[in-house]
Formats: sequence, C-alpha cells, structure tokens
Amino acid sequence: MSEPGRERILIVEDEPEFAELIRLWLDRHGWQTLLARDGWEALQQFERDRPDLVLLDIGLPGPDGWELIGRIRAHSQVPVLMVTALGAEADKVRGLGAGADDYMNKPVSFPELVARVQAALRRAHPRTPSAEDSGILMRGAVHIYPRSHRVLVGGVEIHLTPTEFRLLRYLAEHPGELVGHRELLQAVWGPTYGDDTQLLRVTMRNLRAKLASAAPERRFITTEYGLGYRFVES
Ligand code: CA
Repeated sequence: MSEPGRERILIVEDEPEFAELIRLWLDRHGWQTLLARDGWEALQQFERDRPDLVLLDIGLPGPDGWELIGRIRAHSQVPVLMVTALGAEADKVRGLGAGADDYMNKPVSFPELVARVQAALRRAHPRTPSAEDSGILMRGAVHIYPRSHRVLVGGVEIHLTPTEFRLLRYLAEHPGELVGHRELLQAVWGPTYGDDTQLLRVTMRNLRAKLASAAPERRFITTEYGLGYRFVES
C-alpha cells in the first residue's frame, strides 16, 4: 500500500479537457495522478504502475470501459469508479455487476468526485479493522471468509465484487435486524452516501442474483419496503 494521501489514481478518459480538469482536482487534493487516453494505455499503465484506484470512462478508443473492468477484476480488487452518461440506468447496472464500486454521472461535479474518491480509498484501506475482520461468519447456508474474500452458499462458491461483498457482510453481521438504507449506504460506501438509494438498489439486485445462482430456492435478504433490508438465516 502506498503512503496515505499519496495514493496513485489512474484516470482513464479520452476527452482531453475533461481529463485535465479531473487531474487538476485530484492533484490539488494530494493524490498522484496517471492519465490514460485510450484502452491500450489504460491496460499498460494499470499493469506497470499498479494504481490504488481507477477512474473509468466507458466509451474509449481501443478496449472500452467494459473490457477494461473485466480485465482488471480478473486479478485485482482495486477500487473502480465508473463515469457514465447521465441517466444511463442500464450502464450502471452493468457496471456495478461487472465489479465497479461506484459510478458518477456526467457532467461530473468535481467536489463530489473528490468525496467519492476519498470514500473509495478509505474503504479499500480501512485504518481500524473491526474486531470481526478476520473472523469467519457462518449464517445458516451462507459462509463468509473475510480474509480470503470468499463466500460459500450451501457449499457453492459465489464470486462477489468488493462492494457486494461488503454489503453482504454488513447485513450478515446484523442477522435478523432491519438495517436501514442510510445505515447501509454509509457503512458500505461511506459517510457521504446516505441518499443514494439507487446505488444500493442496483448493488442489492446483483448480490441477490448471485446468491440465487447458488441457492435458487432460498431467500437470504428480505426487503422492508421504504425502510431497508434484513438478513435472514436459512
Ligand atoms: Ca469517452
């Protein structure tokens, strides 16, 4: 891990003026920035410089954002923030399903971008791991192994993105309790995320689909409409 505050951020963006603006904002907050203007450069820089976070545009010359996230997630848990066209719901669902941690709409609010980068880096490098950090969680058919980042459902391994993993783990740490939207968003994404229920909804949908792929007849997470979610042992 690099020194806190000097983490390296790889900006993958083919619009030069927008890329420079992002770079300016991130530099000003003390991060090191790397810039890739197309998918090939992005892959090269990712392999060579091992950034601590990737800011990923979707439409790019060469391998696009979809291909890049697939390649990154094949061997890395690095936080990925996707930048999508405004209102492209299908892109968000697809991006979070492919392993992005978060997304931002264009046009981007730069203060919000900085806040989301900070939150993503904090999630990736928690300073004070919880007491249960190394403890295996066994909740009925769901077994969660925090250290190896693995989840077994009825003995079948499912592959979760880092965000889906944190979401499942947080709920499983509070079995039977109603966990509100705001609490979940803040626990899983960070303190600035209380209102982003769409992000939660989409990530929950993807998580449930993966749980169902291993145990279609069971329900592990119930919805309390308008309130939140509950982990039920089954
Ligand atoms: Ca683009």
